Amino acid sequence: MYDLIIIGMGISGISAAIYAKQAGLNVLMLEENAPGGTINKIAEITNYPGFSKITGPDLAMNLFDTITKLNIPYKLEPVTDVILEELKTIKTKNNVYQASNILIATGRTPVLLALPHVKEYLGRGISTCALCDGALYKNKDVALVGGGASALSEALYLSKIVHKIYLIHRRSEFRAEENLIEQVKHTKNIELILNNEITSLIIESNTFKGIKLKNKELLVSALFMYIGSKPNTSFLTNTALKLEDGYIITNEDGLTNIPGVYASGDCTKKEVYQIINAASEGALAAIKIAQNKTL
Ligand SMILES: Cc1cc2nc3c(=O)[nH]c(=O)nc-3n(C[C@H](O)[C@H](O)[C@H](O)COP(=O)(O)OP(=O)(O)OC[C@H]3O[C@@H](n4cnc5c(N)ncnc54)[C@H](O)[C@@H]3O)c2cc1C
Repeated sequence: MYDLIIIGMGISGISAAIYAKQAGLNVLMLEENAPGGTINKIAEITNYPGFSKITGPDLAMNLFDTITKLNIPYKLEPVTDVILEELKTIKTKNNVYQASNILIATGRTPVLLALPHVKEYLGRGISTCALCDGALYKNKDVALVGGGASALSEALYLSKIVHKIYLIHRRSEFRAEENLIEQVKHTKNIELILNNEITSLIIESNTFKGIKLKNKELLVSALFMYIGSKPNTSFLTNTALKLEDGYIITNEDGLTNIPGVYASGDCTKKEVYQIINAASEGALAAIKIAQNKTL
């Protein structure tokens, strides 16, 4: 029986765990993959205070060091179901846990283009992580689809590894800071293909060979996708938790519509999806849970 169970060990969940532990709460963290979450996939972070520049995996390692030093217990078990009564029951494949409060900090997952063969060739030419897979395509030509800040920053990262990048965006304008857009426009080996869409993958002899656009074909060794994300909340659909497009609705303290159930970070409905607010939302939720316990 815990005061608080945190689902998800991204920066939001880990920030919450640090504050909860220091407030004397009996806390447990549950994670289905790697501690650090999404930041493990970011090549370079330049907007997190205290670090003028840090790689995502280094920041993830620093977070992991902190929870280890604070002796915060965690288990690498995906949560499959929750029962949100006065006492919260959290089920993983092999265990059942109970807590008076839970914090859902499960982040979100990249969306894939809805085209034939995409899922089949994930890891064999199709990727959603330039940091993880970029080195496989050293000096090769690749394509990257997307028009937001993540797409542009990952294109810049790839431009230092690959021979050429075709950056494909279905609109004429990018949705990112001007400075980032300018850098992309001035990078010689990034060719912009705007107002265009990928219509199919070119597969030959069970190998990914390239892509077809509306009006041309591109022979490339890989296609990187940065076209948005969906929240990791499917295990909540049978609960009474208020969701919008799968995103959890909270108040400014991170409290959901169910007492004792909090949410923070990228799985919540909000305007800005950045490391700094994912961390602060997790911390604030833990502070509120600790305050409520002592009332
Ligand atoms: C390519 C890219 C580049 C980015 N660059 C920047 C940047 O430069 N600066 C910036 O501020 N932000 C950046 N962001 C955004 C930033 O990474 C996120 O806002 C932030 O990391 C979200 O943290 P989180 O803790 O909410 O979620 P996540 O880091 O996604 O953590 C959620 C965790 O929950 C786990 N989980 C999910 N479901 C379950 C389950 N059922 N059971 C147990 N565990 C579960 C996941 O495995 C994961 O570890 C970038 C994002 C991307 C994709």
